[in-house]
Amino acid sequence: MSNHPLRDATRISHAGRPGVRELSYVNPPVVRGSTLLHPNVALRLKEYGHERRLGYGIGGTQTHHALEDAILAIEGGTRCQIVGSGLTAATLPLLAYLGAGQHCLIPDSVYGPTRCFCDGMLTRMGVSVTYYRPTLDAVELNTLIRPNTKVLYLESPGSNTFEMQDVPALAAAAHARGVKVIMDNTWGLHFFQPFAHGVDVSILALTKYVGGHSDLLLGSITTATDADYATIREAAMEIGEYASPDDCWLALRGVRSLLVRLQHQMQAGLKVASWLASRPEVVQVLHPALPGAPGHDIWKRDYTGACSLFSVVFQPSFTYDSLLAMIDGMSLFGIGSSWGGFESLVLPVTGTYTRLPDDPGLAGPSLRLHIGLEDTEDLIADLTRGLALLRRE
Ligand SMILES: *Cc1c(COP(=O)(O)O)cnc(C)c1O
Repeated sequence: MSNHPLRDATRISHAGRPGVRELSYVNPPVVRGSTLLHPNVALRLKEYGHERRLGYGIGGTQTHHALEDAILAIEGGTRCQIVGSGLTAATLPLLAYLGAGQHCLIPDSVYGPTRCFCDGMLTRMGVSVTYYRPTLDAVELNTLIRPNTKVLYLESPGSNTFEMQDVPALAAAAHARGVKVIMDNTWGLHFFQPFAHGVDVSILALTKYVGGHSDLLLGSITTATDADYATIREAAMEIGEYASPDDCWLALRGVRSLLVRLQHQMQAGLKVASWLASRPEVVQVLHPALPGAPGHDIWKRDYTGACSLFSVVFQPSFTYDSLLAMIDGMSLFGIGSSWGGFESLVLPVTGTYTRLPDDPGLAGPSLRLHIGLEDTEDLIADLTRGLALLRRE
């Protein structure tokens, strides 16, 4: 073998598996268990509490550890904690780094349920939350940082509205003021390397492309340093966070085909997005990888690819009711939450998200589309039928 470092597809296909020259099965088995028995009490006392030494189920089994290693191969970082859902991956670091009397900065385009947590439990705990315009620059960010600000939360692109954030500039400004940078990197996934861009803690909803088959919920929290991992790990252990090993095992299956699916879905998503951008009914396609779309320059600078989730804004002359008729009239796009599976999905955007009062909103009725593994010609034919319904023909 040459000394060249292994390429991503090789590292990711091998991550979290036994070596190919070991006597073992190709895939690590599902290890389920609460209680681990020890040969003697001294060993039990010694091993208990040491992370990654096996002591009790809540610390994770070998199946969790295998998935943690696979996520590190995808995102980089020093260590990873698997949690039961993407939402827990978003909320646990906020609990870990924030306490009463402290302040955090959350983008106005944040995933809706994360916002509910910030407005609910986090606020009740005495943390003050400021929502900021997601496309702000480092100078503006500086004016929002207070002496008690502990966390800058990023999500790029934003949920539903796809604003791109200048992560390196914002992270540098935050670090200069001693503020931790936590990022929801679910959209960027393998195509955005958070730790090379200044992020301290990166979270993923593995439910999306990693699971890839719409049959599990999981999240991951990956850290830039061992010290950050210790903070996350302690919070996970204090709260009793645990993910099912069966789901971890399914997610590991998803990892094996992840890059192939992502490449295919990126191309398919761009094909459908650029077809939509050429339609007279459409004002704008909010897909950062599409030339001319908002945030495209940042995407081009920081990303090596894109996933297949984006929004479409239609002319304001179309009514919300005709938008709903369009959705109901299509037959290949499932009507449902989530994304990252093998199947295409559609949901209306308008009216489904909360924003600051001064947010200008979208120019017209809007849809969010997820492009799956179906043939794009069939999907475009389905959208063509849908557009006729939008036009009330
Ligand atoms: C879906 C999603 C989550 C939450 O993931 P779940 O596993 O469904 O809880 C978090 N962040 C973003 C951006 C998401 O789209």
